[in-house]
Amino acid sequence: MNRKRRVRNIIFFGLISTLAIVTVLATVIFSFAPSFVAKRFNPIDSSGKQPISEAAQTLHKTLAIADLHADSLLWGGDLTKLTHYGHVDIPRLIQGHVALQVFTVVTKVPAPLLLENNDDRSDDITKLAVLQRWGIPALFSLAERALYQAKRLNALASKAHGPFKLITSQQDLSDYFVASQQNSQITAGLLGLEGAHALEGKLENVDRFYQAGFRLIGLAHFFDNDVSGSAHGIKKGGLTPFGQEVLQRMESHHMIIDLAHASAQTIDEVLDFTNNPILVSHTGVRGNCNNARNLNDRQIRQIAQHHGLIGIGFWKTATCGKNATAIARAIRYVTDLVGVDYVALGSDFDGAVRLPFDAAAMVQVTNALLIENFSKQDIAKIMGLNVLNFLQALLPEK
Ligand SMILES: [Zn+2]
Repeated sequence: MNRKRRVRNIIFFGLISTLAIVTVLATVIFSFAPSFVAKRFNPIDSSGKQPISEAAQTLHKTLAIADLHADSLLWGGDLTKLTHYGHVDIPRLIQGHVALQVFTVVTKVPAPLLLENNDDRSDDITKLAVLQRWGIPALFSLAERALYQAKRLNALASKAHGPFKLITSQQDLSDYFVASQQNSQITAGLLGLEGAHALEGKLENVDRFYQAGFRLIGLAHFFDNDVSGSAHGIKKGGLTPFGQEVLQRMESHHMIIDLAHASAQTIDEVLDFTNNPILVSHTGVRGNCNNARNLNDRQIRQIAQHHGLIGIGFWKTATCGKNATAIARAIRYVTDLVGVDYVALGSDFDGAVRLPFDAAAMVQVTNALLIENFSKQDIAKIMGLNVLNFLQALLPEK
């Protein structure tokens, strides 16, 4: 073999082995990294799990349960399969007797993430978009990220006799409840957006998102945007002129306004602007747990006066505790202030939070509400009826 040929062979085999190593590495990263990340960010601290009474077990099976907030679409897992990490999949929703789960789409989150004073210059979601191969458009467009995740939820509901229904109208909701009378092994979801920055400043994106199945928009997430201020932003301003147009367009489609994460000024200005009931899908209340993210008494009263609904979160800075007793205490605080008709569950399952239990163990909350001395009728409202009535009144008819 002459020298030239030997060098050529070395280069050739070098290239082949580099390519093989890169391929193996990429396969390992793309196959295992998404579930590794999901597991790491959404742990369960089962030290918060409490013993369940027989009375709670029995009552739980009679309830129509609804939860206002889960970020499960963000992590790329196959939600049709029972998994051993994170908080939500369809089998676990059915196991936990959850009739309806709101699935919310996240498109941009600052890094590092602070409780206050985040700007919009950094973003952690791009990494997830790359790891989960959301496609090139989703790397550069927040609207595309939202539409990509919407497509994934729609795909779950596409099997005609499958266990998951996507609710987009009052009719869907009625049909689903007829079906669930005959088959207890089904569950349903509603699609929401967390942060109107994903509209990318375009009113026509409200129409696109409506067509894609979105029925709820949270105006702000972790930073101020061109629609409204965030409780975690820098200016924490109010509803912008573009935000007013967005609300009008949403109302024309019967889409629901979510003020979770919104700044105090935004909450006031939206309640002034609209006569429709609004949601605060996942939050705590300051009277029970005092921090900038949680609602104060004046806001709770205002939301109740507007016939709105407050979803109590399950994570630590929402309840100032780490079990279902703490969740029940936060709920009790709201019902003492405004009555039982304006409170619901807003777990924040899979929302990059540590929780005491997953969707399969929703009976934890029923159990804690019984111990907190709520009546069975009140528990039924808190666990889901308030949400289902709210949706039945506000969603588009068909
Ligand atoms: Zn959130």
